[in-house]
Amino acid sequence: MRIAIVGAGFGGLNAAVELRKKLKPSQFQIIVISDHPQFVFRPSLIWLPFHNHPLNKFTFPLRPLFEKIGAAFIENGVQAIKPKQNQILCKNGEIIEYDYLILASGASPDWKRIKGLEGESASVYHISSALQTRKMVKELKEDESIVIGIAQGNQTQGIAYEFLFELAAFLNEHHIKCPITFFTYEKEFFEAKSKKATSKLEKLMTKNQVKFYCNVSIEKIKGGKVYLSNRERLAYSFLLTLPPYKGKEFIFSSKGLKHENGILPVNETLQSVQWENIYVVGDANDMKGTKTGRAAEQQGILAAGNVVKQIKNEPLQSYQPDQLYIMELGNEGAMLIINQLTDNGILKGTISGVLPHMMKRAFEKYYMFKFSE
Ligand SMILES: Cc1cc2nc3c(=O)[nH]c(=O)nc-3n(C[C@H](O)[C@H](O)[C@H](O)COP(=O)(O)OP(=O)(O)OC[C@H]3O[C@@H](n4cnc5c(N)ncnc54)[C@H](O)[C@@H]3O)c2cc1C
Repeated sequence: MRIAIVGAGFGGLNAAVELRKKLKPSQFQIIVISDHPQFVFRPSLIWLPFHNHPLNKFTFPLRPLFEKIGAAFIENGVQAIKPKQNQILCKNGEIIEYDYLILASGASPDWKRIKGLEGESASVYHISSALQTRKMVKELKEDESIVIGIAQGNQTQGIAYEFLFELAAFLNEHHIKCPITFFTYEKEFFEAKSKKATSKLEKLMTKNQVKFYCNVSIEKIKGGKVYLSNRERLAYSFLLTLPPYKGKEFIFSSKGLKHENGILPVNETLQSVQWENIYVVGDANDMKGTKTGRAAEQQGILAAGNVVKQIKNEPLQSYQPDQLYIMELGNEGAMLIINQLTDNGILKGTISGVLPHMMKRAFEKYYMFKFSE
């Protein structure tokens, strides 16, 4: 029997390791297909525009890891899925058959969805764009207007707050004074995560003299200005705006998969609502809430467990979203936000300062150690 996984980010990597732990290599073949030869610990991308953070600290090659655990690794782009035939069509024409499929292919920023945004915003979604943003940040001059925002529909809000406070710290350190404006479609900062987190962010905005607007959407971006729904027009020299996500191109080419802008609907067991032998995890699915590496990791493990249960005809487990998020806050260290269901009820809390910052660094090291050593 063959279980195929598309993608080797947080979701795919953890799914593969979990499956290999639970299924004997003699009976079950695990194949991971990724269009990228390396794992990228994406939370570390936020440091690239502001610090010297060598790539080998947060990336590692995937092939040796999969060889070690006994999973096949195919470095190839997926062109389309044919769910009726249980087939994956690769970009080089290769066809891979599967019995079960875990889709962990992530999502892409949908720049086109916000009128005029494409080509206007700096980005930190990938190594190349984060390094490009580094150049832009280094070229910032006194009094240039900076606008940072979260567009309606975006589910990765934490990145904008991190970028804002890292940038404020950078400017401070280099004695450059620039007016900064922040906006978000959320009713309040980092909505629904924790009241304490919201008020901490508000205090920090005030401390850093950041002008801000909540509960606003973007109408368009034109002529170097962001047109907000509250009639404000924000002129910028430097803009970073997070757009909503869309699914990867191959989802659009997969005729048998229903999707909303490439994002695949799943039920609480993380199975596709259409195909019971297909699971979708991480940024690629339509689970509500903030899209995080933590969620992708947990979903990858749960989906792998459910594949095993399905093979054994056991009842499947439902996904229970929780929250464990560490947000960088520039000079203020970082903030750890916990909102987790435990055996003793809900564990909720927010801790700020140097400790969470050290935890974020340690988390990167832990990942590198766990998977690449
Ligand atoms: C700057 C930044 C900071 C962040 N900070 C945090 C944080 O502090 N904490 C946190 O929990 N999360 C954070 N996140 C979010 C987190 O990184 C993502 O939610 C997470 O990476 C999603 O994991 P995933 O496995 O679903 O998808 P991805 O990590 O996007 O992995 C997708 C995989 O699919 C592969 N793939 C894509 N298309 C194809 C194709 N056609 N064929 C074959 N393979 C394909 C890719 O190569 C990749 O291996 C941050 C993200 C960014 C960008």
